[in-house]
Amino acid sequence: MPTAPPGVGQLRGEQSFPDAAEAALANPQLRRNLANATGAIRAKRAAVVAEVQDWQELRAAAAAIKDEVLANLDSYLSQLEARVTERGGVVHWARDAAEANRIVTELVMATGSREVVKVKSMATQEIGLNEALEAAGILAFETDLAELIVQLGHDRPSHILVPAIHRNRSEIRDIFLSEMAGVDPELTDEPAALAEAARRYLRQKFLSAKVAISGANFAVAETGALVIVESEGNGRMCLTLPETLITVMGIEKLVPSFTDLEVFLQLLPRSSTGERMNPYTSIWTGVHPGDGPKEFHLVLLDNGRTATLADEQGRAALRCIRCSACLNVCPVYERTGGHAYGSVYPGPIGAVLSPQLTGVADNASLPFASTLCGACYDVCPVAIDIPTMLVHLRDRVNQDKAAGHRLPTAEAAGMAAASWAMRGRRRWTWLLRAARLGRLAQLSRLSRSGAGRRLLPPPLSSWVNSRDLPQPPAQSFRDWWSEQR
Ligand code: SF4
Repeated sequence: MPTAPPGVGQLRGEQSFPDAAEAALANPQLRRNLANATGAIRAKRAAVVAEVQDWQELRAAAAAIKDEVLANLDSYLSQLEARVTERGGVVHWARDAAEANRIVTELVMATGSREVVKVKSMATQEIGLNEALEAAGILAFETDLAELIVQLGHDRPSHILVPAIHRNRSEIRDIFLSEMAGVDPELTDEPAALAEAARRYLRQKFLSAKVAISGANFAVAETGALVIVESEGNGRMCLTLPETLITVMGIEKLVPSFTDLEVFLQLLPRSSTGERMNPYTSIWTGVHPGDGPKEFHLVLLDNGRTATLADEQGRAALRCIRCSACLNVCPVYERTGGHAYGSVYPGPIGAVLSPQLTGVADNASLPFASTLCGACYDVCPVAIDIPTMLVHLRDRVNQDKAAGHRLPTAEAAGMAAASWAMRGRRRWTWLLRAARLGRLAQLSRLSRSGAGRRLLPPPLSSWVNSRDLPQPPAQSFRDWWSEQR
């Protein structure tokens, strides 16, 4: 089953997660920014979710709707294409990132315009659309405030909902002062002043742009309607002012009927921004003379989604509605930030989605970027069991590795040795007693300084790279139990 092609888009990092995380952990400013931002969103989310008495029933309904879509994706997609076409839109099918980039570039070129405005779209980041447009001489202007900060800072997004979460106010002011044409040189780092500067800058772009490119949160198969939820109103400008609108959407974003939106429009704002309802919800269907864009194109993107759908235990990742609640509760994400994941999809959902879209070999370290604490599953509004999926993907990674080795890997040899020791009662008891002799205790102390790492043979040496070796207890449970009887 084809996966997302290498060399195009933003699904693969240049480093493995442990290497990239080590660099991120050495940045105390980044950790402070992340802890402040995720802590605030977590508290807001918890408060508004607690107000909804049937929250668990809503979660179950959302999961059931998404599973129904995934089980019948072909027919729902055909239905969507028919409805969009009936209402004057044009549907394009893109097997992968390269094909989607080519389709969108050709559509923009055909309008004669060399500038586009964009409203937030993870799908276009996933396929690296801005870079493809730039290569064709087309300038793309991000209009979501956080994405504008990322673009002006020549940076990469590090959070699904708050792409500039790694930046604080004074860093944003510095970016605006150095990169934003016509900005007031006395600009302060007050949020209202920063928002006003962005508003003035973007207003000119909205009024001059002939083409807009958007993503979509949902598409309704029954009616052909597309839905975008956002907080600033910039999306509404993008969706209504330009003459041509091009929407790039992953094929999994469908809901069967308009009434299904009722479930998701309750779950999404509370899970993402901690709001009871979303400030701007834009819904459009095809084109309407004298109202909004004259041309509407919908690009339906696969890019590894069909391959994900083919994995029975991994396909639930396609339920994701990109609320980012799992990122905000993840202890790993809170310490490393999003860049360490190397993909446009960071955090727990990124750790299960990116390896499936690219094939696990290309993102083999991501399923291990988790403590399996389960906080992500608890908050997920579509009840994706991310911890179980991580274990499944770890197994796929290990099976892949084993298939490529004629000899067992060090980890497999270590596990086989542990399994042999634990299967024999006498052997295990003897090992526990040996541990108490103090050697492991000494190594535990040394592991903090790195000396233990050097003393332990592989694979134990890599185990203590990121953990302290536990001190063996003074008395084992078995010995204690024997004494009590
Ligand atoms: S996996 Fe669940 S919690 Fe995480 S972004 Fe997707 S919908 Fe939200």
